[in-house]
Amino acid sequence: MSDAWLADRMHRIDASGIRKVFDLAASMTDPVNLSIGQPHFPMPQPIAEAVKRAVDEGRNAYSQTQGIAPLREAVQQRVEAAYPGQERAAFITSGTSGGLMLALMTLVGPGDEVIVPDPWFVMYKHLTTAAGGVVVEVPTYPTFAIDVEAIAAAITPKTKLILLNSPANPTGAVCDAKTVKALAELAADRNVALLSDEIYSAFSYDGPAASPAAHNKDVIVIDGFSKSHSMTGHRVGWCHGPRHLVEQMIKLQQFSFVCSPQPSQWGALAGMDVDLAEPVAAYRRNRDHAVAELSPLVDVHSADGAFYLFLPAPGGDATAFVKRAIERELLIIPGNVFSSRDTHFRVSYATDENTLDRGLEILKSLLR
Ligand code: PMP
Repeated sequence: MSDAWLADRMHRIDASGIRKVFDLAASMTDPVNLSIGQPHFPMPQPIAEAVKRAVDEGRNAYSQTQGIAPLREAVQQRVEAAYPGQERAAFITSGTSGGLMLALMTLVGPGDEVIVPDPWFVMYKHLTTAAGGVVVEVPTYPTFAIDVEAIAAAITPKTKLILLNSPANPTGAVCDAKTVKALAELAADRNVALLSDEIYSAFSYDGPAASPAAHNKDVIVIDGFSKSHSMTGHRVGWCHGPRHLVEQMIKLQQFSFVCSPQPSQWGALAGMDVDLAEPVAAYRRNRDHAVAELSPLVDVHSADGAFYLFLPAPGGDATAFVKRAIERELLIIPGNVFSSRDTHFRVSYATDENTLDRGLEILKSLLR
């Protein structure tokens, strides 16, 4: 097979950053892994039981494209309660990634611009590029707070979409309510779509994260069960937004993902009644502990949510710092995987206390 077989778009997607990290990590014998982007706690038992029951009862076929009725209706009710009078439509996606892919393919065409605060979640850049769009980065260093005026200044006649992720991967930043409202109003004023990725909304430690959907009926929201319910392998998410757009996304889902896996959707339905207070409290404790240990040695900003810290590397060279960490058996991720800069590194505290402590000891000695 030759490279000439590949579509142009594949040459525009570059995954070398993360590959280099895994190449380096291959030499590790007993890694302390603070690189993981998913919860470490087991998927709650009621979800596992509901998935098994669904399989045993023969619910193994395609579901309706928009999701099994009880789950879709439960999500719809929740959305209507949160945003009364907006006539939002909800449907079930194949993970939050599925919703993201459908939204980008529905809205972004060749040459269209997508405004993305930098640092960004990896998929934003690469899926926008795959759709033929152009990513317009708006830097948020060093505090990772979004500057609405900077976003406004980045809008051009080609702008189709603004991407907001709060709580954010990789920074942990939770966008304050005033900024969220201003962004929602900016999008409405300038007639630009706004997509809000709320997958970490369960993990906002100092009060609930605000959603721009409260201020703009056309905001598209994607969310999912992967992180909150520790079920990343099950591929269940949801999306809500204005009906005409949701109908277009469902049309594309029909001809791509088809549906989220049916047994997993029954699991997610059971998951809606699961109390998440305990795992969230555990990660809040991890956050508090990591911030207390590290802030005497390094500037810690925006440790408000998700389960990440995004910290400046000594000397401003994240890849060099990550190499040194890997020599000490600590796995963390350099900032260039999530950014046009390589000045910071991501630490995940989605782990048990013992692993976190081992990692923090290594980090502290490297930062001293
Ligand atoms: N958005 C963000 C910001 C994420 O960090 C992730 C997972 N790493 C996703 C979306 C995708 O999650 P999933 O497809 O498992 O729901």
